[in-house]
Amino acid sequence: METKTDKETYYKCRKCGDEIYWNTRKQMTWCKCKTIAVDGCEFYVRLTGDEKNFKEIQK
Ligand SMILES: [Zn+2]
Repeated sequence: METKTDKETYYKCRKCGDEIYWNTRKQMTWCKCKTIAVDGCEFYVRLTGDEKNFKEIQK
């Protein structure tokens, strides 16, 4: 079901610090302060919100 990779990508909101996992299974997922949203699956990742408020992190 899940593909094992060395690192996983999260998108962190610079305003509230909320971290959203890249694969939201096609569910638009907002951070706590509703500044950014991630909508992702195996085929695409869509980011909503101002680019400068995103921080891409690898875990
Ligand atoms: Zn936020």
